[in-house]
Amino acid sequence: MPALNRRRALRQMLAATLPLLHFVRHARADDTPRFGLGIASGSPTADSVVLWTRLAGPIEAPEVSVRWEVAADEAFTRIVAQGSEPAHADEAHSVHVQPRGLQPARWYWYRFSALGQRSAAGRTRTAPAADAAVPRLDFAIASCQRWEHGHWAAWRDAVQHPSGQPLDLLLFLGDYIYEYASAPFGVRTHAQGAATTLEGYRARYALYKSDPLLQAAHAACPWVVIWDDHEVDNDYAGLQGQGLDPAFPARRAAAYRAWWEHMPVPPALRPRDEPGGAMTIHGRLDWGRLARLQWADGRQYRDPQPCSRGGRGGSATVRPSDCPELFEPARSLWGRAQERWLHEGFSPAHPWNLLAQTTLMSRFSTEAVVPVPEAGGHATGRYWTDGWDGYPAARRRLLQALHERQVPGAVVLGGDVHANYVAELHTDADDLRSPRVAAEFCSTSISSRSWPQSAVDAALKLNPHVLHGRSDQRGYMRFALTPARLEADLRTVADARDAGSAVGSQARFVVEAGQGRPLPA
Ligand code: FE
Ligand code: CA
Repeated sequence: MPALNRRRALRQMLAATLPLLHFVRHARADDTPRFGLGIASGSPTADSVVLWTRLAGPIEAPEVSVRWEVAADEAFTRIVAQGSEPAHADEAHSVHVQPRGLQPARWYWYRFSALGQRSAAGRTRTAPAADAAVPRLDFAIASCQRWEHGHWAAWRDAVQHPSGQPLDLLLFLGDYIYEYASAPFGVRTHAQGAATTLEGYRARYALYKSDPLLQAAHAACPWVVIWDDHEVDNDYAGLQGQGLDPAFPARRAAAYRAWWEHMPVPPALRPRDEPGGAMTIHGRLDWGRLARLQWADGRQYRDPQPCSRGGRGGSATVRPSDCPELFEPARSLWGRAQERWLHEGFSPAHPWNLLAQTTLMSRFSTEAVVPVPEAGGHATGRYWTDGWDGYPAARRRLLQALHERQVPGAVVLGGDVHANYVAELHTDADDLRSPRVAAEFCSTSISSRSWPQSAVDAALKLNPHVLHGRSDQRGYMRFALTPARLEADLRTVADARDAGSAVGSQARFVVEAGQGRPLPA
């Protein structure tokens, strides 16, 4: 070998070895797994995706440089983007990297390194170009992962589904954490009391994110995330906490900030310096010409629930005759500005319009309903006011908009109620001859407990537009979408107390394009 080549070979060998020596030295000095909270990606577009991590363990420095790499292959031999991003102490040493110029509809692999350690690699994906013909989208919806209520075998199934078909996208629809102090009889415990401060919320996210099955689900595909109430305070509405505490805006600002620090959302979403820490989290994305996806914020702009009890805010279960406020037309769950934005965003040009939002949209009365159409609502029945039944005028506006705009392939996706519901949405839930405007799939919880199946069975008889209702199993929903049909697989775990539990199919449904009615598959 000529001397020059030998020198070059030696240099290359040293270059390959040095990072390893570097790693070993730091690993001895500090054994804290710096990437112990995992990595994540999300908010994909056709040319970018957000990469997230947060450095764990005690860090003295106010700022740490985090290296990131994006590769076109799993072995990281073809790096397509790389750089460094500062992780700041006042952002809990989190980073939100948004590389641009990626190719549309491509799988990528990404990883981070900092403080002498390297993260595991994650896999992510860009959206297709807006004008691309797309044969298929595999996605899932999930919500409500209360730590103490169970282990998260559902996440393993999301990553290793028996079909072997990887998820292109995961929609997380709220209750990523629960703010409560620990409940008795849990399978694991919240270490501190209720989260109310920035430090408290950060610690809660760190606890949840320590779960290896959740980490694997984040590392498998990009997520689109929205929040519900428990990321802040049970049943809060806008700037009003459940306890009507005047200091609630400061609590909400802390909770929103911690949410931003821990979610794979764009750096530009960072909470604004306003009372309550305003953030714009609703959005839309075209998955080529196949589907328009919109996602909604059901908490930040909502009017308070009507007819709260006992000098508090929050939800109640009411009869309309006891709560005329229920039907006030000005009341809104999304706030009028977001409502308008979402209504106008439905696409006549896409065969499918997916609406990801937090909760069950179908009317769900727990007492018999006698319709009085001219009253603009229901004269009888019994309704839970935190969900859409607490905002019937806003729901009517949405369903009417779907009808008037003849929105093709409208599918409403939700969570929150800790039960699987499959339903058809009509402009008038009391009249199944009224136009059918959307199919609804509301997913059960990843782990949060629910009410008894006997109560659901009784309610199903009173709500014939709800085709399927199961509160007795935990899990998530998985979908395969093609131009011709939407296939839904309701994945449920056999035992939510067991991280190694088997996961199976509770039911399957199909919605044919242009039909809007979920049929058992
Ligand atoms: Fe929940
Ligand atoms: Ca909720």
